[in-house]
Amino acid sequence: MLSVDEIEKQAEDLYATVMDQLYKQYAGLPFDETLLFQTAIKGKELAETALEQSIKPRPFYLLMLENLANAMGLPFILQLSKEYEKISTPEVQIDGKPVNLLTWGKFRIQTTDWSALKVAFDSFVEQAPKLIPYVKQRFTAHQEICDRYNENPLDIYLEKEQIQYSTLTRLITQLAERARKPFLQAAEYYCQKIKGEPFSPQDDHAFFHYNVNQPLSNHLRGLDPLVHVKKTLKTLGFNVEGIKIDSEDRPLKRPHAVIVEVRIPEDIRVINNPYNPLGAFISIFHEFGHGIHALCANPKDPFWKRHAVPLSVSETFSFLIDGLLENRLFLTKELGLPSKVINDCLDRSKASGLFFTVFLAANSLMKLSFWKDSLSFEQASSRWENLTRRFYIEIPGNYWLLYPINVEHILYNPSYLMASMRTTQIQHNLIEEFGEAWWEEPRAGKYIAELAATRADFPISKFPLDPEPFLKQITQLSFI
Ligand SMILES: [Zn+2]
Repeated sequence: MLSVDEIEKQAEDLYATVMDQLYKQYAGLPFDETLLFQTAIKGKELAETALEQSIKPRPFYLLMLENLANAMGLPFILQLSKEYEKISTPEVQIDGKPVNLLTWGKFRIQTTDWSALKVAFDSFVEQAPKLIPYVKQRFTAHQEICDRYNENPLDIYLEKEQIQYSTLTRLITQLAERARKPFLQAAEYYCQKIKGEPFSPQDDHAFFHYNVNQPLSNHLRGLDPLVHVKKTLKTLGFNVEGIKIDSEDRPLKRPHAVIVEVRIPEDIRVINNPYNPLGAFISIFHEFGHGIHALCANPKDPFWKRHAVPLSVSETFSFLIDGLLENRLFLTKELGLPSKVINDCLDRSKASGLFFTVFLAANSLMKLSFWKDSLSFEQASSRWENLTRRFYIEIPGNYWLLYPINVEHILYNPSYLMASMRTTQIQHNLIEEFGEAWWEEPRAGKYIAELAATRADFPISKFPLDPEPFLKQITQLSFI
């Protein structure tokens, strides 16, 4: 029998070893796969000991259960990353090589060759089923561990997020149904304007993120996001100098920015993908939002309290900081955006927000039903197709397999939508208490820091989820 202190200490060290290797993998650096597997096996044994001892409190127990399930799923996740590289399309090239699933993100940002984008999209959708065996094994491994301890993946997720299944699906449906019409109007408007063509399935999040938001991106060219995020967070009272940043471009680097919290709060690293100015700004602001959340953890708190944070709570802090890039006053005052372009830029970022809402709503409902109704992969793809048709336009079923957050995580997308609603409420509180330019007020920083320090004990019930304020923020476009 191990003492709780000993389990915590070992779990934290093993976690740090795994995270250090995953950091290297995400950054496209050489990493030690053998060490990763050995550590995963040690982690598995430790988690089994903790679970046999029915370790308390409940969030610690669930954290160990998830650690065990993740350790069992690790080989398939690693295999999946190797498959991403193998799925490529010879007709479309980037840096003299066929575009593959890892370089697709970079390609989408760099090109305005719409027909090449369509070729790549169609080819990847067609090849997506090749990923199914690995995703299936990853999910099955997770399910089997949950079965062994009489738990199930969906209930664990809902318990951590402190929400009922019916409430969650109702909120998500409400968001998507209200966002649908303005989104389709905005999508048609921008597709005609940018491509001279109607909105189509391959106009995905990258199109909205980078092409629709091009004017803001052009304005940000030459500005250093790190300088601005550090200045803003410093004014709020956060010391973020300790966060390590990797901005180097490497062929195997993940297409999405990511934060790796190796030790909370001591060792926090951000992998940035500097493909385009707005992308760099959003990534850096988003990941530094996660960064301050981790930095505020009390090092004296137990391991589980610092680590067992619901995903929607994590994303609340990142959205709070990257949300500044959609704030009229912040853009004009801090980033010097001329007032004559501000309305256009805000319309465009709202269009992206609408896309994000309908897209994630379809993904979330599909994935929730995947676990609730034990869907087959075929059924999941057809469910995704139906949901996209209902919420915006029909996207080919297998596309969901190409969206990394869907594939690697048991459930994640609903947390983004919950975080959006919660962040809007916190933004309102900040404005009410500290004024329109709350980011200039150290007392606002103190409020955020106190919330961030709660980590696994975040007071979820203090911020009831309400879709209206969030919808109000994204549905008012000047040309609709
Ligand atoms: Zn995030």
